[in-house]
Parts: sequence; C-alpha cells; structure tokens
Amino acid sequence: MNIVLLGPPGAGKGTQSKRLAERLGVPHISTGDLLRKNVTEGTGLGREAKSYMDKGLLVPDELVTRMLTGRFEQKDVRSGFILDGYPRNTAQAKTLEGILSGPGLDIDMAVYLDTSEEVIVQRLSGRLVCSKCGANYHSTNMPPKKEMVCDACSAALYQRADDKEETIRRRLEVYNNESAPVIDYYSAKGILKRLAADGEAMAVLDKIIDLVREEDDSFKIQK
Ligand code: AMP
Repeated sequence: MNIVLLGPPGAGKGTQSKRLAERLGVPHISTGDLLRKNVTEGTGLGREAKSYMDKGLLVPDELVTRMLTGRFEQKDVRSGFILDGYPRNTAQAKTLEGILSGPGLDIDMAVYLDTSEEVIVQRLSGRLVCSKCGANYHSTNMPPKKEMVCDACSAALYQRADDKEETIRRRLEVYNNESAPVIDYYSAKGILKRLAADGEAMAVLDKIIDLVREEDDSFKIQK
C-alpha cells in the first residue's frame, strides 16, 4: 500500500511513518531525512538546501523533486511505501503523480494527523534525534534510556537546528500557508483519512493501522 502522511511539523509524521513502515514491511521515505543526509554529506544539493532548512522555509520544489525522483527509481518502492514530508504544497502533489506514473504507481491513502498547536510546540521543543539512525525521542514524552544516547544504536542524540522556538513558529506559518491546502487536494480525490493525533504515539499508530486494515484487510501487518 502506498501511503502519504500529512500534518503540521510536530504532528508525529516521522515517528509514525517509521513505525508504520516497519509494521507493513515497506520503505519509509522522508524528504526531511533525505535532505538532512545531503546536508551532512555536504553534497551540492545539501549545500543549496541548508539555508532554507535553517530558516524553516521550504526548499525549492526543483531540488526536492530531483532528490525524490532518484529515490523512486529504486525498486524497493514497488511493494509499497510510506511517504513523510512530501507533498508540502499542491504543486508537489501534482509532481508526485508524475514521479509515480513512471513506475506505474499511485497514492492509495493520505492520512492527515490532526494535531493542536499546543501539542505541536510541546513536541517540537522537546524533540531529540539520533545523529546516526535518525530515531526520534522526546525529552519528556519518550526519553531515551540513557541521557542523549540512542537506545537503538548508541549514537549521540541532538536537537534539530530548526526545532528552536523562532524557527518552529516560521515552520508553522509555512505549513498553514503552503502545506495545509494539500489536505483539500487529497480530500477532493476521495483518499483522505483524518485522524485525531494529539494522543500517545502507540495509540495513534494503532488507529493508523486500523485505517490500513479497513482499506485492505489482506495486507500482512507485522506485530
Ligand atoms: P521535516 O523533517 O519533514 O520537518 O523537514 C525539515 C525541513 O526540510 C523543512 O522545514 C524544509 O525546509 C525541508 N523539507 C522537507 N521536505 C520538504 C519538501 N517536501 N519540500 C520542501 N522542503 C522540504
């Protein structure tokens, strides 16, 4: 099944996408993770993207499209995927259809994680990310066993530069102006599922899995 997760920064798209991808046995494709990898590796694309990311602005569509087109050329996406952080405006939603038409794919379901502003700010300001495997933690909601160390791979955790208060505010503005219309785009296509996502991460994941089962009860879901 090909699923897009939508919602503001802090809605839990990254956390839910990673877990959902594991349960469904399909790849998790996050444009934010792919961009951060390019920045860390110092590629030309990463150098161009960094200044936008640091300011909490969207990276120009052309750069993200190039990166995502490359990712969808890999064969693993043919058995399904969870897309996280893309599309972030309606132009990207249309571009995505073009990218997917190459390998003959389509989006089956867009899940909108509906989250209150209070929860968003609380989640983002406490978010910690593993510098090696990208696992997400939260200083109070989901702390690692050992302070600032990843449970999964023992690498150091860090706070994302764009999770500082001022940048969070900018990202929310960008989301409201540019990304929120994507919800209507998928609603008009009849594939949008809205889900209240203020609750605890595992409870939200269970609700997403229920949606997947409603859509396709033959889908094999790992425990
Ligand atoms: P995320 O990890 O999804 O919160 O993304 C972090 C940052 O990467 C965003 O604030 C943008 O600067 C950039 N970014 C991620 N995905 C996209 C996208 N689809 N289009 C443009 N910029 C993006």
